[in-house]
Amino acid sequence: MFSKREVLVGSLKVGGTAPLSVQTMTNSRTEDVKSTIEQIRRATAAGCDLIRVSCPSPESTVALKEIIKHSNIPIIADIHFNYKRGLEAIDAGAQCIRINPGNIPAIGVNEIVRAAKYHGVSVRIGINSGSVEKAILAKYSEPSVDAIVESALLNCKKLEDLDFFNFKVSVKSSDVRVTVASYRKLAAKIDYPLHLGITEAGTLFSGTIKSAIGIGSLLLDGIGDTIRVSLSSDICEEVRVGRQILKSLSLIGNSINIVSCPTCSRTLVNVIDLSEKLEIYCASVKKHMKISILGCVVNGVGEAQHSDIGIYGFRRGIAKIYFKGIEHCEAKAPEVFDVVKTLIDEF
Ligand code: SF4
Repeated sequence: MFSKREVLVGSLKVGGTAPLSVQTMTNSRTEDVKSTIEQIRRATAAGCDLIRVSCPSPESTVALKEIIKHSNIPIIADIHFNYKRGLEAIDAGAQCIRINPGNIPAIGVNEIVRAAKYHGVSVRIGINSGSVEKAILAKYSEPSVDAIVESALLNCKKLEDLDFFNFKVSVKSSDVRVTVASYRKLAAKIDYPLHLGITEAGTLFSGTIKSAIGIGSLLLDGIGDTIRVSLSSDICEEVRVGRQILKSLSLIGNSINIVSCPTCSRTLVNVIDLSEKLEIYCASVKKHMKISILGCVVNGVGEAQHSDIGIYGFRRGIAKIYFKGIEHCEAKAPEVFDVVKTLIDEF
């Protein structure tokens, strides 16, 4: 969305003026075609735009061919060390190849780029703080911001020298500050699309917070074109968190923004239960709306008047519901969810 260049991952545009995309990575064994296809299906249903699949063995790239046939979203093959896996993945139909040119011999990088050019496949240069080249590490003594960015620029140049420009770049660290500073520095030097993420961010709880801070800070700076939240959790959680980060910054179209109060002793309806139920229901609804759910009249009326659907506790167990800023009806607490669902459909 923010960089000047655009790459194509299959039919999906990344960079330029394209909408920000959300991606994740399968964690089944790639050779287990059935499980991997099922993961991709679940991630797609959760709102994933593109997905990465590891290809560590010849068997995995054979499986990849079958997996690609069953995927409705573009697939990025994750390649390390052995360039032959990259060639096999391109032959299998992968729409993008993720490599760290630093861990593949130059001859292998040449071969992958030649095949990528021939087949119109894009590449992601994935630099991680844990895999910066030894020579650069020796110069900086640690995977610092300068070391990470130098590694990224070196690897961009390797592809540019091969007359290849169809790539995006990531510079991830598990340290939020290092990651943010690295992307900021890199974004000032190149105009290739940037894939954002905090690597090895941790569990669903802590990784969500780290990712929201890191990815969110960069997006607020206007940096980033596609995001991946890395969590030690179900891959669909990565997608949900990624989409929520974009939603929170109004960077995603056709999504429902739910505003709900923290509740207090004035609360007259079950805000927590209703908000959670609506959040689940709204996750798959493609409409651009704001819904407010407040426990009482204190802020309830004002929010309701400025929401597409506004709900607030009016009397104990009774909610008042606004539609498009105008008072619509009253409903008993157990009926509110169904009334709101009908209004969402009508909107
Ligand atoms: Fe409490 Fe009402 Fe504010 Fe909710 S809106 S936190 S119930 S005062």
